[in-house]
Amino acid sequence: MKQPLIRAESVSFDYVVNRNDVIPVLRDVSFSIYPGEYVAIIGHNGSGKSTLAKHLNGILKPIAGNVFVNGLNTKEDKYRRSIRQQVGMVFQHPDNQIVATIVEDDVAFGLENIGVPGEEMKERIDFALDAVGMSTYRNRPPHHLSGGQKQRIAIAGIIAMRPQCLVLDEATGMLDAYGRRDILRVVRKLHREGMTIVTVTHHMSEAAEADRVLVIESGRIVMEGTPREIFQQQEMLHQLQLDVPEASRMARLIHDQVPAFQSGLISQQEMI
Ligand code: ADP
Repeated sequence: MKQPLIRAESVSFDYVVNRNDVIPVLRDVSFSIYPGEYVAIIGHNGSGKSTLAKHLNGILKPIAGNVFVNGLNTKEDKYRRSIRQQVGMVFQHPDNQIVATIVEDDVAFGLENIGVPGEEMKERIDFALDAVGMSTYRNRPPHHLSGGQKQRIAIAGIIAMRPQCLVLDEATGMLDAYGRRDILRVVRKLHREGMTIVTVTHHMSEAAEADRVLVIESGRIVMEGTPREIFQQQEMLHQLQLDVPEASRMARLIHDQVPAFQSGLISQQEMI
């Protein structure tokens, strides 16, 4: 049996605002993510998805329970850098993730921080830009790019760090249909090449791409299974206020068939 890449054990988390107002968010959450998996975390707004995602590389730390990345406890500060390198995160707003005025400098940013030498840095930037299909943009100012292209640059910056796992926290949330398609294509390719993917999304069409889906409600995991198993539980999904895929499409909304958006099962409107 493979060792989990990420293991969450009975994780609970509260936000504390105004010094002592406690907002309970995660409650006793346990799951494992194995190397090479593609896992989607779904749930309606405010269910705790993003808070959970931020626990996967130690941006947030549990108030009870533990998260381990390749056996390293995210609560231990000495593992912080190593954990962040192993698990990279891409967020919703592409503009907030772009730091440089030229694409290649932006991709280089994380590498400079960890002191990667010049020649290796160049190789890693070439590889990362190629992986997201943005090599021809390397000398362009990122602020002139579309949302989808900016998000691809953000992903390149993460890939350049050679993480084992890429976590996308509503990474397509601000993008139009074309931008979403771009990102899904890139993510699918990275997964095929062996990268572990965790995607936080409220789009069922994106969850359908995954091997396994975790459904979160009020900070607890309430369902877990393949997209097919999850989509079959229409009533439960309805209660959780999640868009229920129409029965006729449902069977085909599974990752091992033609991706939903390519097959035309997902209309352009739904992509938005
Ligand atoms: P989701 O990603 O499913 O929309 P979140 O994890 O963003 O859910 O939020 C879960 C709950 O935590 C919500 O009630 C939200 O208002 C609250 N919350 C999120 N971030 C913060 C924060 N920085 N400070 C206080 N409360 C927060």
